[in-house]
Amino acid sequence: MKLITNRVYGAEDILPADVYKWQFVEDVMRGEAMSYGFKEIRTPVFEHTELFNRSVGDTTDIVQKEMYTFDTKGGDSISLKPEGTAGAARAMLEHGIYNDGYPIKVYYLTACYRYEKKNFGRQREFHQFGMEIYGAASPFADAEVMCAANSVFQRLDVKNISLEINSIGCPECRPKYTAALREYFTSHEEELCDTCRSRLQRNPMRILDCKSPVCSEIAKNAPKVLDYLCDDCNKHFDEVKSCLDAAGIAYKVNPTIVRGLDYYTRTVFEFVAPEIGTVCGGGRYDGLIEELGGQHTPSLGFGMGIERLLLLLKTQNIEIPAPPSCDLYVIGLGDKAKLRALRLVQEVRNASLIAECDIVGRTLKAQMKYANKIKSRFLIVIGDSELEKGSATLKDMETGKEIPISIGDGFFDEFISAYVSVDHDEEDIPLNF
Ligand code: ATP
Ligand code: MG
Repeated sequence: MKLITNRVYGAEDILPADVYKWQFVEDVMRGEAMSYGFKEIRTPVFEHTELFNRSVGDTTDIVQKEMYTFDTKGGDSISLKPEGTAGAARAMLEHGIYNDGYPIKVYYLTACYRYEKKNFGRQREFHQFGMEIYGAASPFADAEVMCAANSVFQRLDVKNISLEINSIGCPECRPKYTAALREYFTSHEEELCDTCRSRLQRNPMRILDCKSPVCSEIAKNAPKVLDYLCDDCNKHFDEVKSCLDAAGIAYKVNPTIVRGLDYYTRTVFEFVAPEIGTVCGGGRYDGLIEELGGQHTPSLGFGMGIERLLLLLKTQNIEIPAPPSCDLYVIGLGDKAKLRALRLVQEVRNASLIAECDIVGRTLKAQMKYANKIKSRFLIVIGDSELEKGSATLKDMETGKEIPISIGDGFFDEFISAYVSVDHDEEDIPLNF
């Protein structure tokens, strides 16, 4: 077979055999978000480029190098979302959701696009689960988003994941720190990479985030932001730590975390796993909403990479429960029997159980093979004599047990009683029986 084209570099297909893993972790994410009182928000996959320039920040790698930006036929510059916060914040403002009162607590599951080199846990199209709170200055809000992310890891039984936190100050204290950083890095200007040299004047904090080995070596001895925090930022950071202690969440202060997005203020944090690096990153962005044209609205959130989380589960051999398989396969031999088979599977499907019959014209033998392949728990074969009698044999494919079953009006009740008499997870049994 010669396909006309393959998938785009850096994008992945999620195939039917694997999708249950995604659905499982997404269900956990939705469940945790709901436990914390967050509602889902869905925003478009693209936005006006200006939104990301203003929010993510035009000195960041994301905006400078990684964004998928294009002009529409109408001449507008549009970008695929590289992260989830900007769109959510824009939507909140555009629809005046803040009129309903603060805090606004939203979560999202979204595809993101960054023009990066494909690598372990790094793709050009990837997916994020994120949570955001708008209108909450209290350190309890910082703790709440960290606890929520932590709950997702706990629910999934992830081991060895550590929460690292830092504070990067506010517009009050940051300039002093930025000046100290500029002075320090200027003394190493010759050694810095080209990108970092250009960052020196505009945003020297970005240099701390540079992945080049030379720059990160120099960054190790750079002034530490925690030494420059103003009293209010110090107090806030201390209170965040007290809240995390009270919630029983372990953390480590890591003064080198600065995060790759410009909009962060005060608290920044990462959940880091030794096997994989950062799985979740977030923090406070008190200036973002003003930057987008809204009123001053202290806000915060995180983004968690779903591909990275799945890789982590895999490296830790954490098993994701297999999806339910077929409950009943009905084979009809002959035109009339085939129609009866269809009627029976419909009755079972109406009860939200899984049932199949042939749709490709397979022989009896091939259908038996198929029923085994899809791991159908029960099997019924209907031929002329079964049609005549109005009853057939229900075979339990796991135990081999065979019991007579009506294929007329009594079918559904008899099937359900056979179904509930065998082992099932409780949640698989339809509620109305
Ligand atoms: P990194 O330092 O790994 O590039 P980042 O600081 O750019 O991460 P964020 O913008 O904070 O990442 O995004 C939050 C999370 O999204 C990351 O912790 C990671 O799990 C995931 N993520 C970011 N970029 C990618 C990508 N290209 N492919 C897959 N997942 C990604
Ligand atoms: Mg990155």
